[in-house]
Formats: sequence, C-alpha cells, structure tokens
Amino acid sequence: MRPKPPPNYLAGYPVALTEQVQRLIEQDLLADILLQKYPLAHAVRTDKALYDYVLELKGAYLRNAGQLSKVAFDSKLHVIQHALGTHTSISRVQGTKLKSKSEIRVAAVFKEMPPEFLRMIVVHELAHIKEREHDKAFYQLCRHMEPDYHQVEFDLRAYLSHLEATGQPLWSAATVDAVTPLDE
Ligand SMILES: [Zn+2]
Repeated sequence: MRPKPPPNYLAGYPVALTEQVQRLIEQDLLADILLQKYPLAHAVRTDKALYDYVLELKGAYLRNAGQLSKVAFDSKLHVIQHALGTHTSISRVQGTKLKSKSEIRVAAVFKEMPPEFLRMIVVHELAHIKEREHDKAFYQLCRHMEPDYHQVEFDLRAYLSHLEATGQPLWSAATVDAVTPLDE
C-alpha cells in the first residue's frame, strides 16, 4: 500500500507561487520570513478565551446572525485542505419558531499561532454562519471582517506546508501578545 500523499495546503493557488513556497521551505528560509512578518503569538489558549474572542468578533460584525452554542479548540480536528475549522449549524423547530444553533470548532494547531492567523480562521468560520459555500458572497463577508483576509490565508497555508514538511512549530516559543486586539 502506498502512503497517502501529504495534504497540499496550497492547492488552488498559482503553481509559480506554490513552487516558491516549496523552495523557501527546502532552503530553510520560510520560517524566518514568517516569524519576521508575524513575530508574536496570540494569547487565546483556552476554550473559554476562544469563546470570548469569537463572541467579541461576532458582536462587532454579525450581531444578528443566530446564536453560538459552542466554541472550542479541537485536537481531533485535522487540518486539511478545506477544513481548517468547522462550523455546524443545527436547525430545529421550537414551538412555532425555527431556531438555529451554531457551533464553531477550531483545530488545536491554532493555539500556537500569531493573532492574525487566529483572527483569519475565526472570521472564516463566522462567515459560514451566513454563507454556507465558499463562494463570492462568502469571501466578501470574510474581507468585510478582515480586509487582509486573502493574504493572511495564504501565509497561514504556507505555514501549514512548512509544518507538514518540517514538523517544527514556529510560535510555541514566541512572545505572547499581551492583548490580542480585535482592531488595532
Ligand atoms: Zn469553510
């Protein structure tokens, strides 16, 4: 049996770009580039802290978009190409009203990452409360919450490629951002 190929976190990006990332990893240069651009680690380390963080962002942008019943880091959630986190929504009829409850799970690998990456994944999962598919309206909503969304997602995917190739996390020993601000 052949071993499964590693996930290609940069599938869908232009080949020239993915090859450049690959070269930077092989030359052991990507880690420094990422650490220079994102020197700090965020301070959101527990499910409670994550819940508060998600609620604050939701309050700022999606106040009326349903209710979040659960927010948690998930160590069983493997980061794959299109599922960096998960969002599930359950709709059920309660009395005469259709109630919808949402749950957001963020892969545990996000515990030790820069504030920008955490914000990006949370923005992504929050956008799914309103937009189910990864379509134009979805990405528009992501950019509304985080104007730099696309660049940060690319940088995150470059990091995940580095992690896959080297097994070396970059932010476990990084200085923790005192407050992870929602808006600076
Ligand atoms: Zn998604």
